[in-house]
Amino acid sequence: MSYTGPEFDSSTPRRSRRRAMTVAVAALVPGALLGWGVYEAVGDTGGSGAGRTEAEAPSTARSFPSSASASSAAPSGEGRSPDGKPAPAPSRAGALQGKVVVIDPGHNPHNFQHTAEINRKVDIGTTQKECDTTGTATNAGYTEAEFTLDVARRLRAALQEQGATVRLTQNGDREYGPCIDERARIGNEEKADAVVSLHADGSGTGNRGFHVILPASVHAGAADTRPIVAPSRELGARIAGSFVRATGSAPSNYVGSGTGLVTRQDLGGLNLSTVPKVFIECGNMRDSKDAALLISGAWRQKAAQGISEGIVSFLRG
Ligand code: ZN
Repeated sequence: MSYTGPEFDSSTPRRSRRRAMTVAVAALVPGALLGWGVYEAVGDTGGSGAGRTEAEAPSTARSFPSSASASSAAPSGEGRSPDGKPAPAPSRAGALQGKVVVIDPGHNPHNFQHTAEINRKVDIGTTQKECDTTGTATNAGYTEAEFTLDVARRLRAALQEQGATVRLTQNGDREYGPCIDERARIGNEEKADAVVSLHADGSGTGNRGFHVILPASVHAGAADTRPIVAPSRELGARIAGSFVRATGSAPSNYVGSGTGLVTRQDLGGLNLSTVPKVFIECGNMRDSKDAALLISGAWRQKAAQGISEGIVSFLRG
């Protein structure tokens, strides 16, 4: 809970660095350009403007370079391999070659039929917590579990396009769960370079926007997040920035003080992780305006693209 800085303050150097990063990433990521094409075509249906700060306004997004100018910013394949031969130019399709990303679609569509199993307690270091929960839903009944699976599959495709090895913790193919301790263990055992757990919130009406949840520094029982706090923060900040750009959504107006970043020590999936990991609550399913976005396949594609761009940015350093 030590974080106080304005992550989206336009006066910080972060803005120019992030914009430069966007150009570099876009040059190497055809999918990003596709994502922006969708964004331009659909327009800004996502943001109400409430809570959005100057640095992340759509005008920034619309200044995104064309593919031609982005190409000119691409690295030129400098350097030589150890045997003296010119190193091959970086492959546009292989920016994440050798990287492992674990995507954790929150909850499970079948959890509703397995309440006894998911209610059993598991150890998360600081305390005991339910194995898993059913998650929330829109007022019309579109469940968080359906949402997270759909975004996970879109995100997997975007990351695989960049050459990443991607594993989902569940793909709607399990009776329930996995439990939150197993979700963490999957990322650990894969020695993942980044893990993102996908969610949508179930807050009050009028509460809008997304937020990224970062692991607090926890050292208790089986939990020791101290080595992952800093890289997870970096991962989370990059995802938050790219999520704003890709979706036009504003950071949460009800937690995170407008930064879109929240630190928590009560989530087993974070407490038990030994690799960089964040959660993202993509919006509030119980708010009608946010729900209208969350049920849109076009919006979910933008959400996945934004998360993917943040991960790519983090993994490329
Ligand atoms: Zn959730």
